[in-house]
Amino acid sequence: MVTWIKAMKAAGRTILYSIAWGAIGMVLMLAGVLLMQNQIIYDPYSGYPIGVNWAGAVGGLLLLIMGYLVALLGLYASIYKVGADVILDELKAMGLSATVRRRCPSCGAEVPEGARFCNRCGTPLEAPP
Ligand SMILES: [Zn+2]
Repeated sequence: MVTWIKAMKAAGRTILYSIAWGAIGMVLMLAGVLLMQNQIIYDPYSGYPIGVNWAGAVGGLLLLIMGYLVALLGLYASIYKVGADVILDELKAMGLSATVRRRCPSCGAEVPEGARFCNRCGTPLEAPP
């Protein structure tokens, strides 16, 4: 079973990873916002906005969306990555205790659980303790 301490450590790691991805996403989003802001065309005489540079505005919006997706992807990827690591660790720990293998005293071959004879040399085996 995964202990709470282990789970908490994993949660901490998840948060750290997601903060890192969030920071990358924020930079992209900020760049998108800045790009969008500078795409309003002002009339040079009156100073009033008279139009929008759509290519730049749409580019900024795409950057904004991309930044959001990067942050979101990073968050979920962090959860899956750390979760998978925890599960793998747990499986490894279980595997180690489950594979205390018996060996034939005569030839040293690995013998399956509960076998009464060595399947390589046929030596009778003691019953498992
Ligand atoms: Zn044997």
